[in-house]
Amino acid sequence: MSAFFKLLARNRLALAGLIVMGAVVLLALLTPLLPLANPDVTDLGNRFKPPLSEGALLGTDHLGRDLLSRLMWGTRLSLAVGFAAAIIAATLGAAIGIIAGFYGGRTDNVIMRGVDMLMAFPYILLALAIVAALGPGLLNALIAVAAVNIPFFARNIRGITVGIAHKEFVDAARLCGMTDTRIIVGEVLPNVIPVIVIAMSTTVGWMILETAGLSFLGLGSQPPQADLGSMLGEARSALITNPHTSIVPGAMILVIVMAINLLGDGVRDALDPRLKSGALSRPMPTTRVERGAVPAPKRNALLSVQGLETQFHVKNRIYRAVGGVDLTVEPGECLGLIGESGSGKSVTALSIMGLVASPPGVITGGAVYYKGEDLIGAPYEQLRSLRGRRVAYIFQDPLATLHPLYTVGDQLIEAIRAHHPTPRAEARARAIELLKSVRIPNADQRIDSYPHEMSGGMRQRVGIAMALANDPEVIIADEPTTALDVTVQAQILSLLDDLRRDRGLAIIFITHDFGVVAQLCDRVAVMYAGRIVEEGPTKAILNRPAHPYTAKLMACVPELGQGRRELAAIPGLPPVVDALPQGCAFADRCHKVQDECRIGDIGLRDLPTGTRVRCIAPETTVSEAAL
Ligand code: ADP
Ligand code: MG
Repeated sequence: MSAFFKLLARNRLALAGLIVMGAVVLLALLTPLLPLANPDVTDLGNRFKPPLSEGALLGTDHLGRDLLSRLMWGTRLSLAVGFAAAIIAATLGAAIGIIAGFYGGRTDNVIMRGVDMLMAFPYILLALAIVAALGPGLLNALIAVAAVNIPFFARNIRGITVGIAHKEFVDAARLCGMTDTRIIVGEVLPNVIPVIVIAMSTTVGWMILETAGLSFLGLGSQPPQADLGSMLGEARSALITNPHTSIVPGAMILVIVMAINLLGDGVRDALDPRLKSGALSRPMPTTRVERGAVPAPKRNALLSVQGLETQFHVKNRIYRAVGGVDLTVEPGECLGLIGESGSGKSVTALSIMGLVASPPGVITGGAVYYKGEDLIGAPYEQLRSLRGRRVAYIFQDPLATLHPLYTVGDQLIEAIRAHHPTPRAEARARAIELLKSVRIPNADQRIDSYPHEMSGGMRQRVGIAMALANDPEVIIADEPTTALDVTVQAQILSLLDDLRRDRGLAIIFITHDFGVVAQLCDRVAVMYAGRIVEEGPTKAILNRPAHPYTAKLMACVPELGQGRRELAAIPGLPPVVDALPQGCAFADRCHKVQDECRIGDIGLRDLPTGTRVRCIAPETTVSEAAL
């Protein structure tokens, strides 16, 4: 609850609305206690006194009644009727919507067609018809306003309920033998209440206006009792000669409705669960950059990442997801990036093209040189023209990255045309060619399939085809085979291997599987807690892992045909990246830990094997490696 108020308070306008509305409601509640003149006592000798007159702060109306007093009592009445109408409409509408949505089928059909019929009438006409049938009066106006708003709530809530009624937790509740009533009250209702509150907060203002409208026409409150609408109606004839009699109630209606609407918007934003996680601010098109000195390009690599630091700033915590990473790839080369999950591999990969969502992501240091050009902090248009055209991504879960409602062909064509405006037919031919190049059988037919009609391996190939669509020079593959079985994985790996040989592609291959690295990569970089701890040619590292972490990681991999060997698991857990320890982040899990490991920053050291390691007591000692 306090989180809700915090979110609400962050929205300045909503806060202003809340304060104004609070003051108005408080005044309305206190009205009977205030020393006000009787609002209904006429005094024809003192008609149309202007505001700030003796004994009448806001003046008097055409019958000499005190306007301040009438305003306060009128506000009280208008608010009461508006809120009552909103609560009645919300309760009945939600009940109807939940029943229709939950039971579905014929119940749904009958109820919703009835609601549709009500909705087919113009709003105010329907309210007028209801009041005409029931006779004028405030209570009847309330009924009319509530009634015309029921369909709105019913429709809204039905839509939400239909979605919820088929969720697994409702099925689970059915499986434990709960009655429908209990399911509705216990499972469905809590999920729709936020929606009801949101719909109410955004319609109360509207209902107050509608009630005022009916009263203005003389169909609501009856004299001498006045609400804001009837005050306006009575003042109409003196609008020109004595405008203050209209302005006073008019301004009050304006203030109330505006405050309610601002507050309602704020409540909606604060209650929306998707917006709670800080997504209230939309992510920027590229990652935010706040860095000091920019490292100069070291050598002329195709893509070179230097000292990259990416952090997540969440509230007042700083998560150092990537803490100074150096990587390079050359054309035709495959670099493996390996590490436990959470070690910062994905964030590194996404930082290269500025794809880390900001907020909360911030690139706080380093540079990414693509053909000598720094991409960090590059203008959005420049990054956009490189994304997918020069540097393409393949992601882990192809079902999540493909759009479910378009055929894979459409999506491939879109990928092609995003960078090369080609006629559709030509793009389609190219798409078929791409599908063939990733060895999808029957490519000319499969192109019209939807993602759900394909198997996981097929979809992953579509993902690869999409990455190849614009003939990129670098492909960054983020665990593309983790979700696949080994046979499909082997096919995909050999496909990528062929592609890099044929096209001279540079590949950064992210994985947590040493087997995959051995098969595909020329060089490998091992990541731990956001830093590279060991880097070098795959063979050298596989033969003689130098960092204790690498060695342990490899000991976790079972080998076929090696007899029974005890599989090691690395004890402990990686450190949390918002509280990294001093010195080596692996120290707590390392069997060779010494006191020096926990002091200062440990740099990458060159070993004679051609690898580099961030360890003061590597597994392979210098002399041993020299042998
Ligand atoms: P992986 O190596 O498994 O790909 P990631 O690069 O996805 O790991 O994540 C690296 C670290 O960044 C993790 O510790 C994760 O908790 C943190 N992280 C990732 N995204 C966010 C985020 N939006 N907010 C805070 N921390 C994040
Ligand atoms: Mg990842």
